[in-house]
Amino acid sequence: MVRDPSGEPLELIGSSIRIGDRKQAEAELRQSEERLQLALEGSALGLWDWHLSSQSTYFSPQWKRMLGFEVDELTNHHQTWENLVHPEDLPGANQALQAHLQGQAPVYQAEFRMATKQGDWKWIFSHGKVFEWDHTGQPLRMTGTHQDISDRKAINQMKDEFISIISHELRTPMISIRSSLKLLSTGLLGDLTEKGQRMLDIAVNNTDRLGRLINDILDLQRLESGQFSITKQSCEATTLIRQAVEAVQIIAHKQQIHLQILETTPLDIWADSDYILQVLINLLSNAIKFSETNTTVQIGVQPQKTSARFWVKDQGRGIPTDQLESIFGRFQQVDASDSREKGGTGLGLAICRRIVELHGGKIWVESTCGQGSTFYFACPAPSLTPSLNDSLMTDKSGFGNS
Ligand code: ADP
Repeated sequence: MVRDPSGEPLELIGSSIRIGDRKQAEAELRQSEERLQLALEGSALGLWDWHLSSQSTYFSPQWKRMLGFEVDELTNHHQTWENLVHPEDLPGANQALQAHLQGQAPVYQAEFRMATKQGDWKWIFSHGKVFEWDHTGQPLRMTGTHQDISDRKAINQMKDEFISIISHELRTPMISIRSSLKLLSTGLLGDLTEKGQRMLDIAVNNTDRLGRLINDILDLQRLESGQFSITKQSCEATTLIRQAVEAVQIIAHKQQIHLQILETTPLDIWADSDYILQVLINLLSNAIKFSETNTTVQIGVQPQKTSARFWVKDQGRGIPTDQLESIFGRFQQVDASDSREKGGTGLGLAICRRIVELHGGKIWVESTCGQGSTFYFACPAPSLTPSLNDSLMTDKSGFGNS
């Protein structure tokens, strides 16, 4: 309004903006929110939306109902989540959160127990991602979902216990069968015909395989149940490598595989030496098993920032790209005939992965079909200061930091 000196209205000035686009955007946003709401309700997922600077966190009604709470019974603050997570599971969940917040993991994923209003625990699978950062790259907002996985956990536990009992029960008669067969093969109980001896060899071989399978199942079960402890102490990485090489020397010799140790810089790691030795022997045995005669298997360890990276490289048949991850799962073999022909169980790498994870490290493989594979695993080496590391990293092996 423009007025004259006496205050009387003179003219009215205004502007108009076409808001068709905005209206349309608002309608689309409403629609997509409705869609999200329906999807969340349909899938029984709880939603969380965490503002990192204020720590205020939106928990959807389903998020709260999953734990037996009414909407107004929990405050919308990050602390609410921390208070409800089982104290034993909180460090692991926070570690996964930090790994994502610091950009080490593309998404955040964690499984933990949460307290319900009734006072018991529910297993929750949480999955989320940062989607807003400030101008310095610091995360501002992160959102994700909660899923109740208690039933799956209970079934898995029952399955594991069942497997464990069966394996224990199988082991005793197995040992007795094996001893009897071995006794027969010595000839002390009478000579066998050539055909009989062949049959006996097959029986011994298969009992050995069954024995390995039972031992591997029990090993994995023990590692996954958490009913054991690993005793970490300072140990020397190259000594472990030498011990592992010694342990597989006979099978390498039998297959005419040449074993070579590279990169022998003394390097202290923080680990349970028996378990790390088990991983190294397993990787070396596989490398030998899946290589042709007259080829070389190499092994070494490289210092990284705060860890030691072990590697085992072969010139064997290699692993298809789509199976580079899956072979670390239970009973996963590239070829179904591997267990029969190579005597494996498909559990060795699953055991290795569990051991490495329990040390706070990770294991992975790079491979080219027909040319060979290199298995890597990292193990904490707190003694490595960055300056020492820098001087050691002028590495001469040619294996690089891949
Ligand atoms: P297994 O007892 O069968 O060796 P693992 O869990 O140790 O069980 O290995 C799983 C599968 O991964 C093997 O059966 C094989 O198909 C593949 N594999 C493992 N190591 C190698 C390797 N060095 N070269 C090629 N394939 C490998």
